[in-house]
Amino acid sequence: MKIGFNGASTMKATLQEDLEAAEKLGYDYIEIWAAKLKHYLATHSTEDLVNRFARSEVKPYAINSIEMISFRSAEQEAELMKELESLSQIAQQLQCPYIVVVPSIDIKNVTQEEIHQETVRILNKMAPLAAKYQVALAFEFLGFQNCTVNTLKQAREIVLEVNRDNVGMVVDTFHFFANDSKLEDLRQTDESHIFIFHINDAEDIPKDQLSDSKRLLPGLGVIPLVDIIQAIQSTGYDRMISIEMFRPEYWEWTAEKVGRMAKEQTEKVLKLAME
Ligand code: ZN
Repeated sequence: MKIGFNGASTMKATLQEDLEAAEKLGYDYIEIWAAKLKHYLATHSTEDLVNRFARSEVKPYAINSIEMISFRSAEQEAELMKELESLSQIAQQLQCPYIVVVPSIDIKNVTQEEIHQETVRILNKMAPLAAKYQVALAFEFLGFQNCTVNTLKQAREIVLEVNRDNVGMVVDTFHFFANDSKLEDLRQTDESHIFIFHINDAEDIPKDQLSDSKRLLPGLGVIPLVDIIQAIQSTGYDRMISIEMFRPEYWEWTAEKVGRMAKEQTEKVLKLAME
């Protein structure tokens, strides 16, 4: 499994710092945090970044992320499509295959059926635009109670109904664990529907208190990572694993320190999963 550096784990570092750390530590891929990309492009061109990657062993894997894609007003939806087109153009130039897209949270008075229909609708609207730029949408469910799509099963049903080559899922161990997604559902997932695998761990606290800030380095928490890795590998998925942590404590570390610890811990856990 190739290893990906994730800009969300080093929120205070710049894109250049992330990339330098990823190169130094021998990562294969980088997931580009979208806000860092915007910051970079305030003083550089996309062409500068294309040239930077041309000199690098590290390849861009995803731009992460466009959030709150569903249940937008008409005006907000037009904004979403503009953002998608802008990021898709950049992704195409970078030869970056994926953009991560995230369902909405805190939507009141909607049924499960309405959530399903609306999420299918918006992905069907976004997918052809992304396809125009040879980009695929990696849809990431969030395992929070207030997220409209919060289990693997629910996300998979949406992706199956959309049924497009350029729409698949992100499986994130934290979100998988936080809302009790089932290993059996993961084992039954078609490998072609898994676009990205995010790994991380979580503190030993009640699940309803888990927030992004409670994520930990892989192997330091309570998520059954070996079981999840074995389940995902049983589908045939073996492409990439990216370490995504969102922990403010780690944001105070240098990108190189986060990257080194993340890679060491992930390799340890992957080794356990092979035994
Ligand atoms: Zn994630």
